[in-house]
Amino acid sequence: MAEHVMAIDHGTTSTRAIVFDRQGEIVSTAQREHAQIFPHAGWVEHDPVEVWTNTQWVVAHALSRAKLNAADISGIGVTNQRETAVVWDRRTGRPVYNAVVWQDTRTQERLDALAGHAPRITEVTGLPLTSYFSASKLAWILENVPGAREAAEAGDILFGTPDTWIVWNLTGGPSGGEHVTDVTNASRTLLMDLVTLDWSDEMLAIWGIPRAMLPAIRSSSEVVGHAQLPPVVAGVPVAGILGDQQAAAFGQAAFDAGQTKNTYGTGNFLLVNTGTEIVRSTHGLISTVAYRCGTDAAVYALEGSIAVTGSLVQWLRDNLGIIQTSQEVQTLAETVEDNGGAYFVPAFSGLFAPYWRPDARGALVGLTRYVTKAHIARAALESTAFQTRDVLGAVIADTGRELAELRVDGGMTHNDLLVQFQADILGIPVVRPTVVETTALGAAYAAGLATGLWGGFDDLRAHWKEDRRFEPAMPAEEREERYRTWQKAVQKSLDWVE
Ligand code: ADP
Repeated sequence: MAEHVMAIDHGTTSTRAIVFDRQGEIVSTAQREHAQIFPHAGWVEHDPVEVWTNTQWVVAHALSRAKLNAADISGIGVTNQRETAVVWDRRTGRPVYNAVVWQDTRTQERLDALAGHAPRITEVTGLPLTSYFSASKLAWILENVPGAREAAEAGDILFGTPDTWIVWNLTGGPSGGEHVTDVTNASRTLLMDLVTLDWSDEMLAIWGIPRAMLPAIRSSSEVVGHAQLPPVVAGVPVAGILGDQQAAAFGQAAFDAGQTKNTYGTGNFLLVNTGTEIVRSTHGLISTVAYRCGTDAAVYALEGSIAVTGSLVQWLRDNLGIIQTSQEVQTLAETVEDNGGAYFVPAFSGLFAPYWRPDARGALVGLTRYVTKAHIARAALESTAFQTRDVLGAVIADTGRELAELRVDGGMTHNDLLVQFQADILGIPVVRPTVVETTALGAAYAAGLATGLWGGFDDLRAHWKEDRRFEPAMPAEEREERYRTWQKAVQKSLDWVE
């Protein structure tokens, strides 16, 4: 009897496979980084062939490290960096171009020509018209890769977000893989109607995208095909697909309206479950699908996306060289009491929620001779907490409800200094679960529900365990004063027009 479930978690920097047991505990894991390709300023690409090679490697290694074989795995769940666009040849399986990554801003100028459509696009898709989402990236590939448009119209090339690419290869590749995505990933393309949960002909016409190249939209938790990777996982049902942020919410067991999670990775993504109702933001948040299980009604979410949080720590490491590893940022920041007056707005490719200003640029302000690299490290960490407060302010304004506490997860939440500062600057408790790999866990949950490993949400809620609760310790007056100074810094960043 299969007592385990496997998650494939393809993130922005790496791909992981994690085997979970029936209690939702990690049994084994394998991980591989892939190259970040920066052909020009503002362009970010990944090689889909490398991603698929890494996926096969991590699947095989996670399984062998767990000392299990395919018969022990009830299902595979896939979760992925969202919005990233991949286009490949239906017959050869070869990508026609590198994956154009969610962070890529090459299409920004082209969007100006579509500005007249912006209100209607938001009405249909729940999303603002920006280069962040898939549509403009896909349109760019069709326009710039020789022969791509004709091939798309003839039905010879296929589009997908990374989940689609991985599932197509995993379930048979060129010899007939499943060409599918799920509602959460489809809701990030600017092409899906948020009400009908189908591709919108009106949106396809705006972007000039042939329907024939789009995957079928499935629910987040159902069997979409069977893995064909003999001898490793042949025959195992592929039974769950969720975009990474939706997967993290699912892994945090945020199944009910009002439940909220914030994930701290390369960027930060706060999701508030709004139940079966679509809440339209008037404060810069996105309306998106949280999950859909089988034929049940879809559950929606409001999302606050922040482009640069953990990647600012990488920038301190790679571009300034003031730390050697991401973890060292905490040690360095702890050598000083506070930020020394420095505020860092990491608007490297503009600001996402709640501002949506692609033209904003990074600002490091409040500098004096007193400021050291330790203060800068601290200001960098604090910027993550301040940006989260910006987003939470929008959530409260949109929903009219204060939050009692915030559940957090993701790579950056290993950093106690940051999580404590987050509680201080929000003025509410911040709670970290024992499993911070909630993205993979969410995908595992989706697959395990569809294959009967778990009977329902109650089984999953019972797995959630608190690791540590961070109580706010900063006096309210100081909190508000610091937040006001942050807002002044943001204004500098918004005023900076290149
Ligand atoms: P993703 O899924 O987006 O690839 P992860 O959840 O794996 O991201 O988190 C990785 C990010 O967290 C990296 O940007 C890294 O710089 C940052 N990070 C990792 N550990 C720490 C730490 N101790 N303090 C601050 N940032 C950290």
